[in-house]
Amino acid sequence: MQQITSLPADDAQCGWYHLSPKRQPRQAPVGDISAPWVIIGAGYTGLAAARQLALNFPDQEIVLVDAQEVGFGTAGRNAGFAIDLPHDIGADDYIGDLDTANTNLKLNLMGQNVLRRIVEEQQIECQLRACGKYQAAVEDKGVAVLDAYRRGLDKLGQPYEVIEAQDLPAHIGTSFYRKALFTPGTILVQPSALVKGLADTLPANVTLYENTAITEVDYGSKVTLTHRYGQIIANKLILANNAFGMRFGFLERTMLPIFLYASLSRQLTEEEQERLGGKPFWGVIPADPYGSTVRRTVDNRILMRNSFSFNPDGRPKSECIPTAKKRHRESFDRRFPMLPDVGFEYTWSGSLAISKNHEGFFGQLGPNVYGALCCNGLGITRGTVTGTLLADWVAGKSGELTEHLLASPGPNKLPPQPFLSMGVNATLWWGQRCAGMES
Ligand SMILES: Cc1cc2nc3c(=O)[nH]c(=O)nc-3n(C[C@H](O)[C@H](O)[C@H](O)COP(=O)(O)OP(=O)(O)OC[C@H]3O[C@@H](n4cnc5c(N)ncnc54)[C@H](O)[C@@H]3O)c2cc1C
Repeated sequence: MQQITSLPADDAQCGWYHLSPKRQPRQAPVGDISAPWVIIGAGYTGLAAARQLALNFPDQEIVLVDAQEVGFGTAGRNAGFAIDLPHDIGADDYIGDLDTANTNLKLNLMGQNVLRRIVEEQQIECQLRACGKYQAAVEDKGVAVLDAYRRGLDKLGQPYEVIEAQDLPAHIGTSFYRKALFTPGTILVQPSALVKGLADTLPANVTLYENTAITEVDYGSKVTLTHRYGQIIANKLILANNAFGMRFGFLERTMLPIFLYASLSRQLTEEEQERLGGKPFWGVIPADPYGSTVRRTVDNRILMRNSFSFNPDGRPKSECIPTAKKRHRESFDRRFPMLPDVGFEYTWSGSLAISKNHEGFFGQLGPNVYGALCCNGLGITRGTVTGTLLADWVAGKSGELTEHLLASPGPNKLPPQPFLSMGVNATLWWGQRCAGMES
């Protein structure tokens, strides 16, 4: 019997969660139940795996469990960029090996298509807009990143538009940036509304249990999962719980739970929208990975995302929120001096799973245990496609994309504590310091 030594416990301040439609969470089962398939984690990966598994095994019950309410966890608290293009931060031109980049592009496009199809078919109200994204720079090294990525996009044959400083206000209102690379393929969403909608439109043979933290696991000919009100006995288990997968005895010391912070402003008045100018909604990602992500949402709010912390237990640190909010304010004021009175209504944190080699895990973990884990920061498209393909693979279906995922070496081993925390904290501190005006 293995105790799960840390459980998700996100803060209650996520703006996307509070502003998305209210729904009744499906409570934990009382007493013991059994099912052929159990999936742990109802984020993008688990929701996609459950939906596809239900299609592949229409006569079997698929149980999907999450420790929190759907839309409350990381899947509902991200910046909402469903990104198509690969971005290999280890390569000079951010594209690197062309075959790998092309396969990653296909994976991301498949993830986007899966999401878009469900949203359209099920009429999920999640502010989905296929409006592309701007990658913007303000310092010399940021501009150099954009130039290098442009070379990579040429190599990959993907379209982009270079937008110079004087033209940027017509796009995004602010004249803060020196240059941007607009790529048309990104889709923006309200992430909490999206995952709530995905959960409420699952096939009839999926049973969802929310607020059902798995606290113990026993691996045998069947997998026994213990929660507060009883046990769930599974013939086969799929782990779709990102860095918390390590707590289930697999991939130990391979994934880093890195916390990111975001703030969402109040709605802009019509007069403030006039003052801001630019397009009615857009998304900017920074040239420097430690910089700020910014969005103007469909309902006329501004999202600011920057600041990082390493929380090894995967749980938030409430003391970091005021510092992050202060940084968000400074970053907002630099970009939007024309909106001095626009305050933030919400500030929250959420965790990513990052590996040192930027690889995720996909495949079999044990005799009757499978997993799609370690989002590396791009879970909206990646989680969706890996969850879908894993559900196909366990049903005996495979293709070029699945083979590519199976061939990955997976996330590599990290140093032990205390060296790990010392190294990660120093890297985050230095990265944020060097981001300068990009943050
Ligand atoms: C501020 C922020 C901004 C981001 N921006 C973007 C972005 O713009 N685009 C993008 O693609 N990605 C972004 N991300 C990353 C993205 O949110 C993740 O990659 C994505 O949520 C991963 O999806 P997942 O389904 O694999 O895992 P998760 O969404 O982490 O879901 C795992 C689930 O497992 C559950 N769980 C864990 N342990 C247990 C247990 N013991 N029992 C039961 N349930 C358990 C958790 O409650 C959780 O709901 C961002 C993240 C943050 C925090």
